[in-house]
Amino acid sequence: WVTITHGCENFCSYCIVPYVRGSLISFPSERILKYIKELASEGVIEVTLLGQNVNQYGLDCGEIPFYKLLEKTAAINGIKKLNFLTSHPMDFSSSIVDVIKDNSNISRSIHLPLQSGADQVLKRMNRKYTMSDYFRIIETLKLKLEDFALSTDLIVGFPGETEEDFRNTLKAVSEIKYDEAFMYAYSPRAGTPASSIKEELTKAEKIERLNELITLQRKISLEKLKSRINRIELVIAEKVSRKSENEVSGKTFLNHPVVFTGNSTDIGKETRVEIIEVRGSTLIGKKIY
Ligand code: SF4
Repeated sequence: WVTITHGCENFCSYCIVPYVRGSLISFPSERILKYIKELASEGVIEVTLLGQNVNQYGLDCGEIPFYKLLEKTAAINGIKKLNFLTSHPMDFSSSIVDVIKDNSNISRSIHLPLQSGADQVLKRMNRKYTMSDYFRIIETLKLKLEDFALSTDLIVGFPGETEEDFRNTLKAVSEIKYDEAFMYAYSPRAGTPASSIKEELTKAEKIERLNELITLQRKISLEKLKSRINRIELVIAEKVSRKSENEVSGKTFLNHPVVFTGNSTDIGKETRVEIIEVRGSTLIGKKIY
């Protein structure tokens, strides 16, 4: 995990980060790249670039833009898998997608927080994109990448969210079909602009909406996992399974969790795995020799 920025100045109306962490600070690209080269020379093969909104890297100080940093990191010898977190839809440019497309070691697992599927809620959240902007990014991803997984964050019951707004979130989730979603019922953070807006929904109503969303997303996540059956996935094994010493677990290149036949000698190596079934929310596979 390599932190590339500190702080955030996007001021989403529900979020406390800009007040507690302060403005965006991008760390010098030269130092970041030198550090990752050192990690790679010590045998690290997977790196995640971290920041509140990594897509804004460099905007505060005239550093290289994020897509360039991504490209330079992907070119470091020994880095077999490169992830980045978190992206913001308002800054997710097609240059980033081009760099992903041209570098096979960049993970095709994209985390793109939507938060709400209703334009009027996004506006009140101060997210600075509309649903059509968001759908345009999805279209670009579909056009340029052969295979990718998408995950997101969603908040239900934001102050002023009507039943119709909530239905729009459900509709967006059904259409986009995320592989995974982190879903929350809105709860006010003292000191944020949203916390001063009067809430009309009760806690029970927010939980009811959240449960409906979770039920829908679970069904979609399962469908997405099942669609990987019979495929050959590239996996970096991370640890021996707790249940059996003849099984190891890790993540596929799309960051789906997987358990497959193997042992401690597989840890940290890239392995080709055939997916044979889905158990719960985990793919089960066998090593291809
Ligand atoms: Fe920044 Fe993310 Fe908080 Fe928005 S939600 S203010 S982008 S940290």
